[in-house]
Amino acid sequence: MTDYNKYFFKNIIGNDELKKNLRSAALYSRPSHSYIFNAPGGMGKHTAALTFAKSLQCENITQSGEPCGKCSSCIGVESENNPDMIFVKATKKTIGIDDIREQVVNKAGIKSFKYRYKIFIIENADTMTVAAQNALLKTIEEPPENCVFIMLSENYERFLPTVLSRCVLIKLMPLGETVISSYLQNKCGIEASRADICSSFARGSLGKALQLADSEEFITSREYALSLIFELNKSDLIGMYETADKFEENKDKTEIYLDMMYLFYRDVLMYKNFGNDRFITGKDKMAQIRMAANMYEKRDLFRILDAVSAAMTALTRNVNYKMTIENMIFKIKEKKK
Ligand SMILES: [Zn+2]
Repeated sequence: MTDYNKYFFKNIIGNDELKKNLRSAALYSRPSHSYIFNAPGGMGKHTAALTFAKSLQCENITQSGEPCGKCSSCIGVESENNPDMIFVKATKKTIGIDDIREQVVNKAGIKSFKYRYKIFIIENADTMTVAAQNALLKTIEEPPENCVFIMLSENYERFLPTVLSRCVLIKLMPLGETVISSYLQNKCGIEASRADICSSFARGSLGKALQLADSEEFITSREYALSLIFELNKSDLIGMYETADKFEENKDKTEIYLDMMYLFYRDVLMYKNFGNDRFITGKDKMAQIRMAANMYEKRDLFRILDAVSAAMTALTRNVNYKMTIENMIFKIKEKKK
């Protein structure tokens, strides 16, 4: 499905300074030759890069630096089908020297077909091997006229200093939870409590928030994780082992369960601290939050949060799954009133 109006600066939320700079580079036709757009996944670097490329190539750019969205170039960009935009991709796991030679070096010397610039978008550019980076370096040191190289990366520290020094480094900033939540509510019509939950799990990434908002599984998993918590609150020793078994039955969802548990106990602690729902993420669960706040002292909640977060860290390593979960459960139950 093609949405011809996707790539506009006005559609990018946050990052105002950055948008201003890119708009003016496009409007006054003064782009640098090489850019690195850096941000964790889902934070909109692909969108920002394509919007910038679209505005550079636009045949009818507006006074605000927005692309017109109507000319043949703009339409081509939207459908990723603009002859003067080249998407450089890895043919193997990483971008090797042959990829750079074939997809960049050999093409950079050829004049653009139709539009003002020849724009290379190098996806996952931080996976370039050292040899690939050196091959690219030669081209970006003496860039052919009207070539613009836009590299997308999650980890700019992986670039050679020589490459970095030739590029304008653009870091996209994570968005605040309230910014994301109000976007979900106002632009996507998502109901407030759901929008809040999704944005608090998105860690500053709008892409991730949208994905969560769209996922029934996410909501079901949350309900299940919360049911495990409530069950645990009431359970005896046998019940604790049973809860551990339930974790293991849904092993692939452990990460999301632990996230949910963490967030729930964090909410309880917030409620205990402030006595109102101001800082509560899961406002739809106020009754359960209040109940848990009566059950636990603050120091218990700190201990529980530590236990959950220790389990999260442990599970990223190659540890015994069952033992980690059981440990966590025992620590959660340790000194309940
Ligand atoms: Zn245009």
